[in-house]
Amino acid sequence: MIEFDRVSKRYDGGYTALKGVSFAMDRGEMAFLTGHSGAGKSTLLKLMTVMERPSAGNVLVGGQALNRLRPRQVPFLRRHIGVVFQNHQLLFDRTVFDNVAMPLEVIGAPPGEIGRRVRAALDKVGLLNKERMNPIALSGGEQQRVGIARAVVNKPPLLLADEPTGNLDPELSADIMQLFEQFSQVGVTVLVASHDAELVRAMGNRVLTLREGELVSGGASPREQLHG
Ligand code: ADP
Ligand code: ADP
Repeated sequence: MIEFDRVSKRYDGGYTALKGVSFAMDRGEMAFLTGHSGAGKSTLLKLMTVMERPSAGNVLVGGQALNRLRPRQVPFLRRHIGVVFQNHQLLFDRTVFDNVAMPLEVIGAPPGEIGRRVRAALDKVGLLNKERMNPIALSGGEQQRVGIARAVVNKPPLLLADEPTGNLDPELSADIMQLFEQFSQVGVTVLVASHDAELVRAMGNRVLTLREGELVSGGASPREQLHG
């Protein structure tokens, strides 16, 4: 589902944020991406959504080499990737339902399908009874769940999360991580950037560790580890 082949990223200012990063992830796998602030986690995620382009090496998502992607193909790629942010980026001038419906509105889905899909997504995050509320009236954990429902409403095969529990207490954080685990169990590939080392350890998933732009552990895919 994901393949990084000796990927480096040097920003215009001259700072090298990623150095020769190689790893692969299978469909339905869940992994964490850890490392100190500035280690390159966000940069790695941005390469997958083509928010940034690598300076060297190749990134493949779902078998598609992103360096061959034309600019007009980028929106199609992004439709297949759900993204969850730390500050969830919800709009407070509309209901929970309308926030989750946004990715479907963008692609012009028919209203009946929008209703069905939004409710299925809200059901999966346990917020079906809050669809008419304004997200401002929800707790931090509930707001983050709305952000996750919005990220998965299109049924993307790939889910990326950038510090999704950054503002939550430990108990709520563990609940959110369990939710990601459930999506991976139905075949979604999930990569979660987090610097919460304790929580990451407790979850027991594969861990990719970046240190100053270099992948220092977790780089081999499970298959490579198996076959040496
Ligand atoms: P992390 O997510 O692990 O905190 P980032 O990927 O955000 O790390 O940043 C890695 C390094 O790249 C940092 O030193 C950061 O300052 C630098 N960086 C990130 N974005 C840019 C940019 N647009 N221009 C220049 N440098 C950047
Ligand atoms: P229904 O059971 O009514 O057909 P869906 O199967 O369309 O409902 O469920 C839609 C919801 O499933 C999505 O809105 C999303 O929350 C969640 N989802 C996202 N990706 C997947 C996936 N790969 N497999 C199963 N459910 C997913």
